[in-house]
Amino acid sequence: MGSGNAIRGSRVGAGPMGEAERGEAAPRVRVAFWCANMHETRPSFASDAAVPEMWDCPRCGLPAGQDEEAPPAPPKNEPYKTHLAYVKERRSDKDGKAILEEALERLRNNKSPW
Ligand SMILES: [Zn+2]
Repeated sequence: MGSGNAIRGSRVGAGPMGEAERGEAAPRVRVAFWCANMHETRPSFASDAAVPEMWDCPRCGLPAGQDEEAPPAPPKNEPYKTHLAYVKERRSDKDGKAILEEALERLRNNKSPW
């Protein structure tokens, strides 16, 4: 299920890394951004390129800023809080385990489908 999400997710993840792997001689700088969920992302930029003040968090889609202490507030009614955001959040190991255990718990409490 959700093959469209997988494709979109991998493209987001592969963007900055893929560029770095191309290994051009141009020097690059890495800039850290933090979103309101404290996800850290470190895209790299050509050293002569302008570094944006804001960056979209590749994990949850919220805007991320360069100040770890004061990440940009998530916009209200933002359209990103769809299943796509949840799918992305589930990819982190901790969340994945929690969800798995929750599911197992539910299976134990309900009747096993098998
Ligand atoms: Zn995030």
